[in-house]
Amino acid sequence: MSVASRPVAAGKTRTCPHCKATILESLSICPGCLHHLRFDQEAAKRQVAATSALRVEGVIRHPPLQDPWEYFVVIAIRNDRGEEVTRQVVNVGALQNTEKRTFALSVEVLPPQAPESQSTPKAAAGPVSAGRKP
Ligand SMILES: [Zn+2]
Repeated sequence: MSVASRPVAAGKTRTCPHCKATILESLSICPGCLHHLRFDQEAAKRQVAATSALRVEGVIRHPPLQDPWEYFVVIAIRNDRGEEVTRQVVNVGALQNTEKRTFALSVEVLPPQAPESQSTPKAAAGPVSAGRKP
């Protein structure tokens, strides 16, 4: 029924034309720079319905009267065999004179795409597994 909505293979990626981040092909808004990438109501609704499967946030404050601290932020992702899939330095910086930084990591999980015409599902649960059910 919808014009632009066609299911995309789960996990398929593309490059955001604005910030050059590698993002999911199925997204309508880049999660990095928040630019709209295409007009697709189904994709937009799906992205709005994304839930946080993991969210960690913490603050680091530099103590007064100490030398500056340098820091680097690394994110590593391992698969179910414990092998590192990716490891990236996200940012580096320095803190001094009671400065503080807040670091937040989140993993958003998208609901399954609505199947358009296929009638035989290949996998029972699909690739999305949020850990445990409510
Ligand atoms: Zn972007």
